[in-house]
Amino acid sequence: MKMITYNTKNFRQIEYLKFLPEETRKEIELVSRVLPFKTNNYVTDYLIDWENYANDPVFILNFPNREMLREDDYQRVKWAWENRVPEKEFQRVVNKVRLSLNPHPANQQSNVPKLNGKPLNGVQHKYRDIVLFFPSQGQTCHAHCTFCFRWPQFVKDLDLQFQMREIDEVTDYIRQNEHVHEILFTGGDPMIMSPATIKKYIDQIFKAKLDNLDTIRFGTKSLTYWPFAFLPDFSDEAEDMLNLFRQIVDGGKHLSFMAHFNHPQEMDNSAVQEAIYNIRQTGAEIRTQAPVLRNINNSSKIWRDMWTQQVKLGMIPYYMFIERETGPYYYFSVPLAEIYEMYQHAIKYSGSLGKTVTAPVMSASQGKVQIMAVVDNPADGKKYFMMQYVRNRNVENTYKPFFMEYDEKATWFDQLKEVEMNPVMANVSG
Ligand code: SF4
Repeated sequence: MKMITYNTKNFRQIEYLKFLPEETRKEIELVSRVLPFKTNNYVTDYLIDWENYANDPVFILNFPNREMLREDDYQRVKWAWENRVPEKEFQRVVNKVRLSLNPHPANQQSNVPKLNGKPLNGVQHKYRDIVLFFPSQGQTCHAHCTFCFRWPQFVKDLDLQFQMREIDEVTDYIRQNEHVHEILFTGGDPMIMSPATIKKYIDQIFKAKLDNLDTIRFGTKSLTYWPFAFLPDFSDEAEDMLNLFRQIVDGGKHLSFMAHFNHPQEMDNSAVQEAIYNIRQTGAEIRTQAPVLRNINNSSKIWRDMWTQQVKLGMIPYYMFIERETGPYYYFSVPLAEIYEMYQHAIKYSGSLGKTVTAPVMSASQGKVQIMAVVDNPADGKKYFMMQYVRNRNVENTYKPFFMEYDEKATWFDQLKEVEMNPVMANVSG
């Protein structure tokens, strides 16, 4: 474990550039005109092994590279850039590429609910018991992930953003929908907001006295990208943030911190481990989730190590996702069959407390679909995927196994054909 003795008040210039060849620097600059790019000194100084940056999981997680664009798109943007076309024309080229990257997977716009006939543009309500809230001040992150499915949120030119500040409308909506028990603050990263800003939202939620609301969640990658937010020795605001968590717990709401870790390397230093400890001391629980990403974490050993480390640090493995079809997904995606095999191997050899994870799961337009098994059907000699919805727009459709044709190359749900349930399909492989 690395010891962090960092002075956040005295930032140095980011020095990573000196490690990179000129050509690589140019490629990063060019690709980042299309895909959002943001990093910070903590990431570059403590999480990346610069001696081996090209294969380093956190470098790939945080720095765009040319293979993240299709070659013809890369060449198109490069030509426009090198030939210094007028800015307006350049933006037109860039936006065309962005729109070809499926910026709105799983039809997220259809999840925007209405309050008294007015759309709540910073809320999504897909599953019966939970609403997602996108506070305006939380629609960026401490650093950006190259695979992020929310990347259009960070690209101002795409008219595809969810955000709002009017928490009163959100609490009215929750009151009118009694079956809503949870609110998830999401983004971007809500932990980019100051504790004072978050407190204003939280105070309003408590003031609204919502008896049906049991749980407040924060979806965040701050433990990877800025653990100082929870370390009073490093940040003036950290104590306020931890006090806010205590206020939520003492106020009778369950607080769940939904932490996003893609690789064990993100948890291997004293800053993140102390931050985890401090958050847990407030009475909050930390649940962990991440997608499987080619070039970053597509190995059963990495997942097993990740769950083992998370349990050791007192966190609860929650979801292993399958990368959504958006942005540079062809660079990161892994075939479903391969993911299932990897998951099986990882979970078999994980300790019992790591088995809390639900996996592997796709967030498709109707809900979260889990691959339960690969099944051999002796009647026709073929293989099938057995799946179920663990979450669905219609709760009646959850936890009912169904079968899809097996395709060893498929990387997403809608590339598969559903088949009739066949009682002969009983031999679960693996
Ligand atoms: S921290 Fe989360 S929202 Fe922000 S870029 Fe990474 S995956 Fe996307």
